[in-house]
Amino acid sequence: MDILNLPPTAKNPPELFAGDAWVDYLAVPQPGTDQRATVAKVRFAPGARTAWHSHARGQFLHVTDGVAWFGTRDGEVVEVRPGQTLYTPPGQEHWHAAAEGCFMEHIALMEAGDDPATSVTWGEHVTDDDFHGPRA
Ligand code: MN
Repeated sequence: MDILNLPPTAKNPPELFAGDAWVDYLAVPQPGTDQRATVAKVRFAPGARTAWHSHARGQFLHVTDGVAWFGTRDGEVVEVRPGQTLYTPPGQEHWHAAAEGCFMEHIALMEAGDDPATSVTWGEHVTDDDFHGPRA
């Protein structure tokens, strides 16, 4: 067994995230295996958000700090608190955000698709109307 040499903290790219969000990988598939799971800690500045996207095999999002907002195409926004885990099923378009006025940190778990290039499908940025949509 080995202590993994994981990548340093990286800022997520502006074409996929609005505002500042940083990712730390905690677990990644290992060479020479058929592993698919990735675990990442993601820290969002107040009001920062992902673009619309979906995951081929769904995603588990465990909030560890702050207040998280998650939106889906039905327009509803779910507020999630530390200690709670949100699940998004395979193919469901959604976004993740820190609520206005506070940082947010979550642990994300997802699996690679059969074609790793299709693990995440990205769309357009979230509008302010999306961001302030009705609460679930
Ligand atoms: Mn997601």
